[in-house]
Amino acid sequence: MVFPTAIRQFAASAKASAPLKSSAWGPAIFGASLAIGSYFYYSSRPVAAESTLKGDKQWVDLKLIGSEELTSNTREFTFELPAGEKLGLTPTSALLAKYVTAKGNNVIRPYTPVNDLDDIGTFKLVIKRYETGKFGNHIFALKNGDTVAFQGPIPKYPWTANKHAEVGLIGGGSGITPLYQLIHAIDKDPADKTKVHLFYGNVTDNDIILKKELEEVAAKNPEQFKFHFFVDKASDSWKGETGYITKEYLEKNLFASSADNVKVFVCGPPPFSKAISGPKVSPTDQGEVEGALKDLGFSKDQVFKF
Ligand SMILES: Cc1cc2nc3c(=O)[nH]c(=O)nc-3n(C[C@H](O)[C@H](O)[C@H](O)COP(=O)(O)OP(=O)(O)OC[C@H]3O[C@@H](n4cnc5c(N)ncnc54)[C@H](O)[C@@H]3O)c2cc1C
Repeated sequence: MVFPTAIRQFAASAKASAPLKSSAWGPAIFGASLAIGSYFYYSSRPVAAESTLKGDKQWVDLKLIGSEELTSNTREFTFELPAGEKLGLTPTSALLAKYVTAKGNNVIRPYTPVNDLDDIGTFKLVIKRYETGKFGNHIFALKNGDTVAFQGPIPKYPWTANKHAEVGLIGGGSGITPLYQLIHAIDKDPADKTKVHLFYGNVTDNDIILKKELEEVAAKNPEQFKFHFFVDKASDSWKGETGYITKEYLEKNLFASSADNVKVFVCGPPPFSKAISGPKVSPTDQGEVEGALKDLGFSKDQVFKF
């Protein structure tokens, strides 16, 4: 709205201070419009941010600037990016994190950022610590100002708006991170009408990671986002499902394998993945579909194992 007013003002003042021949008005106004238009266009257009992780296999040391306890064994870690830069990942992708032990051994693990991937200046990881876990114990002991080396991106399932009509997301514990990255990408884009069915299992309700964020997404748009929470051990106040995510529950609440253009994404600990989809053989081999999804008739190209 500023733009036409500005042209009008500029044209009026040009006319008052330097009368022009009528034949000169056209090019003069055109030139003025172009100049002012260019000014507003270039001054308001966001400058494309540089990516910190460039896919060039270089390790980049980034500073930890905050960490927050989410559950008894998970924390959200915030890292600082160089000024004005974004991380350099697109949905869905992971990155590699590395530290070097006192004996000089590299410990390298993949993790999945859970912030908006267009964020400038910071990114966030949610990490679960296992009792004997090398990387988990290392990062939980870091203080603000310490650094971790990162490399990436590690592309997983490239997402574009409305790529599928409906998606099923089946996750256990910290396996929510890639599923959440996809949920956030769909939620953020008003043009993306993909229907999302999440089935998320945990031991107790206190173990549910990113619960507040998930509940906000579902509350905002309950027709598009249908979320089902499961716990093994329910508290008295628990309102979700109790027990494991079963084939019978999926049959009732997930789309059928015969539906058009649907995809199911799975991420969880090994016994969980085995029961739901069968294991992934390697990063480059998804393996056959087994478990509940096989019994429900889902084919290999309808299932993605993170
Ligand atoms: C693509 C990808 C993305 C990932 N993103 C995330 C993420 O965002 N957040 C996150 O917390 N993790 C994520 N992981 C898992 C992560 O890479 C590590 O495997 C995990 O943090 C354990 O590493 P560690 O060094 O602490 O434990 P390790 O030293 O590797 O393992 C120690 C012990 O923990 C047990 N253990 C390890 N992993 C698991 C598991 N998944 N389930 C049950 N027991 C286990 C092992 O059996 C072992 O006894 C991701 C994995 C992949 C492949």
